[in-house]
Amino acid sequence: AKDGGRNQVCISSPAVSEEMLTPLIVETMLRNALRNKDLEIYYQPKIQAKSMQVVGAEALCRWRHSEFGEIPPHRFIPVAESSDLILPIDEYVLRAVCEQGARWLQDGYRVRMSVNVSSRQFGQPGFPELVRSILRDTKMDPSLLELEITERTAMHDVDRAVHTLTELRNLGVRIAIDDFGIGYSSLSYLMRFPVHTLKIDRSFTAGIQSAVNQNPVIGAIISLAKSLNLNVVAEGVETVQQFDFLRDNKCDEIQGYLFGEPVPPTSFQLTAFESTPQ
Ligand code: C2E
Ligand code: CA
Ligand code: CA
Ligand code: CA
Repeated sequence: AKDGGRNQVCISSPAVSEEMLTPLIVETMLRNALRNKDLEIYYQPKIQAKSMQVVGAEALCRWRHSEFGEIPPHRFIPVAESSDLILPIDEYVLRAVCEQGARWLQDGYRVRMSVNVSSRQFGQPGFPELVRSILRDTKMDPSLLELEITERTAMHDVDRAVHTLTELRNLGVRIAIDDFGIGYSSLSYLMRFPVHTLKIDRSFTAGIQSAVNQNPVIGAIISLAKSLNLNVVAEGVETVQQFDFLRDNKCDEIQGYLFGEPVPPTSFQLTAFESTPQ
C-alpha cells in the first residue's frame, strides 16, 4: 500500500530522496521505468557556426518518475552503466532517435541525430549488428546517425575500438569522440580512430571568458582537429563571447544553452537561427 506521508517526504526534500536513491533502489526503479516507457528523450540543437543553421540534435535521456519528478541522467546513467541495464537503455534510445530522425527527414529536415553510446554497449561484440538492424527497422538514413563515444571509451582498448569503429563506419554512420581533451588520447591514437567529429569538452568552453581568449588549449584542439580534417563541435556554449571566440577560431558547430537546452522533439527548433540569442 502507498504511504502518502512517506512519499511526500521524498518529493519535498531533496536531501532525503538523495539518500534514498541508493544504487540498488535506482536500478530497481530504472528497470520499471524502462518497462513503463518512463524514459523520455530530449534533443539539444547543434548549430553550424558560420550559417546559424540547425545541423544536428543530440539525444539526451530524461527519466520522468511519478514520485521523484525528473531525474537527470547523471543520477541514473552511471548506475545503469555499472550493471547490464545500460544495454537495453542505449538500445531503446537508439531506436527512438532513429525513428525521430526518419520522421524529421520525411518532413524535409535533414538533422544529424547524435546518440550517446555507453562504454559497455560499445564493447558488446554485437553492437554494430544491433545498429545495423535498428537502421533497417526504422529506415533511418545511416549518414544522419552519429554515435558519440567518449574519449575514455575509445582509449580503453584502442585496437578493439579501432575495429568496432571501422565496422560502424562501414554501416555509413558517423562517429564523434565526446568529451575530448580531458582524457589521454595521444595524436598517434587519434589518427588511428576512423572518426568524423571531435566534441570539445565543456570544461574548455567554460574557460572562454571573452572573444580574445586567454587559454590557448581550445584553439590548439581546434587546429589539431582541422589538421586531421575532422568536424569540431564545442559543447556547453552559454555566452555570446564564447560563441564569437569559437566561430572566429573556426570551430564548426556550437552546442549549448545559448541556443537551447535539451527539449522534447515537439519543441525542437528545426529552422536556422537569425542571430545569436542575447
Ligand atoms: P554529455 O554527452 O557530455 O552531454 C552533455 C551534457 O551537458 C548534457 O547533460 C547537457 O544537458 C549538458 N549541457 C548542454 N549544454 C549545456 C550548457 O550550455 N551548459 C551546461 N552547464 N550544461 C550543458 P545531461 O543531459 O544531464 O547528460 C549528462 C550525461 O549523461 C551526458 O553527458 C551523457 O554522458 C549521459 N547521457 C545522457 N543521455 C544518455 C543516453 O541516452 N545514453 C547514454 N549512454 N548516456 C547518456
Ligand atoms: Ca554526448
Ligand atoms: Ca560531452
Ligand atoms: Ca560529459
